[in-house]
Amino acid sequence: MERQTTQLCDRNAMELSGMLRRGDVSAREITESVFKRIDEREKSINAFVTTTRETAFKQADLADEKFRRGGDIPLLTGIPVAVKDILCTKGIKTTCGSRILEDFVPTYDATAFQRILDAGAVLVGKTNMDEFGMGSSTENSIAGPTRNPNDLDRVAGGSSGGSAAAVSSGESILALGTDTGGSVRQPSAFCGVTGIKPTYGRVSRYGLIAYASSLDQIGAIGKTVVDCAMMLNVISGHDPLDTTSANVEKPDFLKSLGQDINGVQIGIPEEFFAEGLDPGIREKILEAIALLEKNGADVVPISLPHSPYAIGAYYLIATAEASSNLARFDGVKYGFRSAGDIADCMEMYHKTRTEGFGMEVKRRIMLGTYVLSAGYYDAYYLKAQKARTLIKGDFDEAFKKVDCIMTPVTPCLPFALGEKMTDPLQMYLVDIYTVSLNLAGLPGMSLPCGKIDHLPVGLQIVGKPFDEEMVLRVGAAYERLAVVSH
Ligand code: GLN
Repeated sequence: MERQTTQLCDRNAMELSGMLRRGDVSAREITESVFKRIDEREKSINAFVTTTRETAFKQADLADEKFRRGGDIPLLTGIPVAVKDILCTKGIKTTCGSRILEDFVPTYDATAFQRILDAGAVLVGKTNMDEFGMGSSTENSIAGPTRNPNDLDRVAGGSSGGSAAAVSSGESILALGTDTGGSVRQPSAFCGVTGIKPTYGRVSRYGLIAYASSLDQIGAIGKTVVDCAMMLNVISGHDPLDTTSANVEKPDFLKSLGQDINGVQIGIPEEFFAEGLDPGIREKILEAIALLEKNGADVVPISLPHSPYAIGAYYLIATAEASSNLARFDGVKYGFRSAGDIADCMEMYHKTRTEGFGMEVKRRIMLGTYVLSAGYYDAYYLKAQKARTLIKGDFDEAFKKVDCIMTPVTPCLPFALGEKMTDPLQMYLVDIYTVSLNLAGLPGMSLPCGKIDHLPVGLQIVGKPFDEEMVLRVGAAYERLAVVSH
């Protein structure tokens, strides 16, 4: 049998970009390799809701035409990219993993998607996800669960499980995901790939179907830190179509990657290594930190004392915002409408939403509506917002002393399919190390730091607001130092 590592679809984006530029390979050949892998593995992994084979080959041929003509060609040209099915793609079904949007075909492109198209990327398809981004395992999807390419009996993580599984299996080279409470970082950790959630406001949310608007952010998934930086260069930057998109200077994220880490101050928050963390994962993270320390970084113990309130605050704020955002799905404006015997408008709304939304989405709409209702608003929603401010304050304090913070991504290894589906609280607790960053709006990256048996472990690097460069720089340094098997 031919060794898989020799296949084009197992290479990273930067490598392929170089090969394309030198004429060693064509975009069509890369696309063929990716779709061959899809033919071999997609049946068992289920990373995609929709694959776009036909348009992919057209885009690949266009890319090859550009290479033939020569000139200044963007790095992403000819590179296959998978896009989470929560980002609007003009003329291509965008389901959000939900029955209520099962047949929804947007009339416009999300800005992030538009930007990768403009850079010449090849769209492989739309990836599977927990319905509206609600979940940590990609089991809450109308399209069925995505399986972890490292172990098909285990989950890929969520909610961007399809995107992470596609990159991990070679069914795509790069992917876009979204991260409201960890959905780029957590599935990246579970699938053994690299994923970055930028600072809130760094990437436009225009065309991203909203889950919790004050937390949602689009991120990049690739095999390496360089690949994430390459994608971030394309998708970030101000967009007048999103009023929360930050009008800040956009650096060249690839530039920070070569720098060493001498004297970089890395904060280690004691609260992220407390009870509940798998001892094997703890060991791997501490090994990674020790390696960086040995190579010039300074390790600084820090405290983020309000961390124990993060999960509670997150699930109150996220559900409150979701209950409002999801009010637009009423059978009138979008997608699915109940076909039952209907007497009046109210009954139509009721039936459509009852039949159109899955269990977890309904649970969250109810919880969110409850915490916003008169009499409970102060006790829950307002309290959660106060906790959010304190959590952000903890990070502000810590960042006076350190340049970045290092933690695990998840408290546990990828779990078995079905294992946490009957216990929502157990599922929510998987997000314990990721949600604080969304509450504080901070950038964070998950990168592979070894395996326990055959299961990948993720290291999280957290940066100051708009300092993705530090996150990428430390990540790239770690990648160089460690012998990590992807
Ligand atoms: N698992 C978290 C949730 O269910 C985060 C999801 C996300 O980041 N979209 O809300």
